Amino acid sequence: MAVTASILYNLVECPQRVALDAFGDPARRDNVSAFVRLLWERGTLFEQQTVANLKIPFVDLSNVNEQNRERLTLDAMTNGQPLIYGGCIRAGDLLGKPDLLRREVGGYVPGDIKSGRARATEGADEDHGGRPKRHYAVQLGLYVDVLERLNLSAGRRAFVLDIQGDEVEYDFRDPSRLWGDYQKALASARSILAKQVVPTPGYGNVCKLCHWHTACLAELTEADDLTLIPLLRRSDRDSMRERIATISAFSDISPREFIRGKKTAFAGIGADRFRMLHARAVMLKSSSPKPYLRLPIKLDVFSIELFFDIEVDPLRGICYLHGFVERRNGDNKSERFEGFFADEATRGAERDAFAGALDYLNSRAGAGIYYYSKYERTIYRKLQQKYPDICSPEYVEKIFDPQRAVDLYGDVVLKATEWPTRDHSIKSLAKFLGFAWRDIHPSGAASIEWYDRWCRGRDPLIRQRILDYNEDDCRATRVLLDGIRALTVATLDSKS
Ligand code: SF4
Repeated sequence: MAVTASILYNLVECPQRVALDAFGDPARRDNVSAFVRLLWERGTLFEQQTVANLKIPFVDLSNVNEQNRERLTLDAMTNGQPLIYGGCIRAGDLLGKPDLLRREVGGYVPGDIKSGRARATEGADEDHGGRPKRHYAVQLGLYVDVLERLNLSAGRRAFVLDIQGDEVEYDFRDPSRLWGDYQKALASARSILAKQVVPTPGYGNVCKLCHWHTACLAELTEADDLTLIPLLRRSDRDSMRERIATISAFSDISPREFIRGKKTAFAGIGADRFRMLHARAVMLKSSSPKPYLRLPIKLDVFSIELFFDIEVDPLRGICYLHGFVERRNGDNKSERFEGFFADEATRGAERDAFAGALDYLNSRAGAGIYYYSKYERTIYRKLQQKYPDICSPEYVEKIFDPQRAVDLYGDVVLKATEWPTRDHSIKSLAKFLGFAWRDIHPSGAASIEWYDRWCRGRDPLIRQRILDYNEDDCRATRVLLDGIRALTVATLDSKS
């Protein structure tokens, strides 16, 4: 079986997906979600727009049938065409379909059009720098490799045309960096496709949108797999597996036997994290698991509480809803929802919704604010930069002043609590506490897809669905706050 760029992309996401796509029972695949379809559509649209704006003439092979495409691509390169769109190149077991092949001195350089940013910006200045994305790099590395084998390469480099209109070079000259990542991914894909290596599933965020989700989750649950412990990664599981194979076995061990000072017998797992993961295993296996506090926490009481959640479509680059559930004097009967919705996916509508939310917050200056993850603060900082005439950077910092604003995820749940759930998402924790969303498929990804439908069809029912979902997220944050306030402190030792 040929190794393709999309196989390498999937491999970076999850080796198990490569194995299941190649050899799994298609009847066990989930349907592709509407959100994933939307991502595909947006990707295609962006590619078409980018190609339409290319400044140099190009040979378009994107509509040529598979059989002829490879031959015509080779012909075009042999004839020295300056730019080829939608070509297909092959050498040995490698098959690549780079969006673009550009002639440069000495040969061709491959490029892909990506409807995301060309570089990962977590932890970096968003507008400058960032790291090359490994899942992009392995795809581009394959194209460079094929061109080298065909003696048609202009050098070990490639490029990405990204959503911001930037062309970003991916440099493969240093064999220990991106080229090394590509070589490792290629070796791993070949062993999986040759069935020399049989990967196993591992539960992670990436599973949520994967078409093997149901099948893998059943397998993981049956196997009592360690990755079902929150924040126990696939790499942790692989390093522990020989000595501790299941959650049940983990819950039965004494952590001391595996701890050496600040380290443990397992690569990449420090003593403190090991104790915490062990306590989670014990809790998950107890007959009546109950959440608890690892440390005492102080949560101030406010007469007005605002439970706050935003909805963002990263593909359109728009924050389309700011939702607040307001509660007075701790009385749930006083709750009411206020939503500031961008009826159109335009700068003007986004600006108005942001301004409305700021006015609302301003009118409740003494209120306590609760949100889940630092995402809200990050987006507010970005919105302030985008619309500096509405408010100052200092005003945004004032809204998120820790004296009144609490990130329940980062400041409380992660730092001080334990839950007998598979992860720490607001959905899992609020559902554990008995809260039920009105929608049957509540998720941020689904909300983005509904917003797309609203923008296209203006169906008021869809608009209301978005508002209801956001309101329920805000209410779930309130349920979580009250649930956390009711927890008591238990030390890891007393639990394990
Ligand atoms: S569900 Fe998760 S483990 Fe299974 S193939 Fe998909 S990403 Fe991999």
